[in-house]
Amino acid sequence: MARIVQKYGGTSVGSVERIKHVASRIQRSKAEGHELVVVVSAMGKSTDELVSLATEITNTPSKREMDMLLSTGEQVTISLLTMALQEMGVQAISLTGWQAGMKTETSHGNARITDIKTKRIEAELSQGNVVIVAGFQGVSGSEITTLGRGGSDTTAVALAAALKASRCDIYTDVTGVFTTDPRYVQKARKLHSISYDEMLEMANLGAGVLHPRAVEFAKNYEVPLMVASSMVEEVGTMIEEEVTMEQNLVVRGIAFENDVTKVTVRGLPNRLNTLSKLFTALSENQVNVDIIIQNQYDDEHVNISFSITQSTLKETLAVLQNAQEELQFTDIYFEEELAKVSIVGSGMVSNPGVAAQMFAVLADNEVAIKMVSTSEIKVSVVVEEADMVLAVEMLHNAFQLAEEVEEAEIEAM
Ligand code: ADP
Ligand code: ASP
Ligand code: MG
Repeated sequence: MARIVQKYGGTSVGSVERIKHVASRIQRSKAEGHELVVVVSAMGKSTDELVSLATEITNTPSKREMDMLLSTGEQVTISLLTMALQEMGVQAISLTGWQAGMKTETSHGNARITDIKTKRIEAELSQGNVVIVAGFQGVSGSEITTLGRGGSDTTAVALAAALKASRCDIYTDVTGVFTTDPRYVQKARKLHSISYDEMLEMANLGAGVLHPRAVEFAKNYEVPLMVASSMVEEVGTMIEEEVTMEQNLVVRGIAFENDVTKVTVRGLPNRLNTLSKLFTALSENQVNVDIIIQNQYDDEHVNISFSITQSTLKETLAVLQNAQEELQFTDIYFEEELAKVSIVGSGMVSNPGVAAQMFAVLADNEVAIKMVSTSEIKVSVVVEEADMVLAVEMLHNAFQLAEEVEEAEIEAM
């Protein structure tokens, strides 16, 4: 008998039929003798629908009330799934985030888990119940919080760590983690396994298949994590420390995200504290900046460019304009409708030619590169949004990601 945490995402519980299907999968696992804790998301696109209801009322909803609203989505699913199980004769109980002991910080909309009081879940398990927990939500004092969009993955992995489960299985609408998003690139190939670090990088760089904080938890607490389909019976992808297959592949996957905007602040004084003043002003106003480039164009002046998400442009411009006198820049220039495309792989660290190859592929396909950023295991470029999918496809071909690599070949690499 093993203790297992399973998680089913929005599409997988998107209708009554699908909820019944999930219930029958749970029934099967239970019949194998496992102790089961199951985390679920809100049905289908219901979280998006709740967000748009709020925007029909206000453009500036209070974060507390947004959490109050969005947390209702998961509560619908836990009760319906539990009823479906009970109808099948499976003993089950549903718990909201606070009933499950999911303690978080106060920061509404993006709360971090601080502690999980597992007493209630343990008690329900020992009574023989399958425990169905609402994903994405927690509690701070007596306030309901949410963990950020896509956060049910994090609920599941954090519970697996706290309950010392033998594994955490994330069931979703794709059959595993692919070399890139299979919805955009037909030739994307499912990976047998991927390391925590590579997966974390992919998730942070836009691969929406897993919430980045879920991967962080899995890595820190060594939770064996699997991503698989809730609909098709097929082996999924293991996310784990030691990747035995495909080890040291230079590029393992490609992540991408749109809604990137590049802002350039021109004619700043060329002084030691210019960067610190500029980015302090932005961070004090909670503007998140990604890639930064500094250009000196004469002895006295520099231009500084940085990328942000599209949705924060208005706020960014307001912060800069307010600080113009202090920062002493000439003007601001910005480019919208950009995207970030990133190649990720742990073998990159020992392979200096990868970035060069990436740039060459993009140049050959007339894709203009606006910004570049690198780390030991990734190279990211900012390009026009219109070039995004083409760039991903070209890079996927150039790095031969569609091809299965045999273990023998890797050893020879
Ligand atoms: P869930 O509702 O089950 O949490 P999500 O929509 O959050 O599902 O995540 C699954 C989606 O992630 C897939 O439908 C796919 O479009 C997207 N995705 C992005 N990058 C990848 C990738 N590298 N491998 C697999 N899926 C990916
Ligand atoms: N329902 C939430 C969302 O749509 C959380 C999740 O699905 O993980 O973001
Ligand atoms: Mg998700």
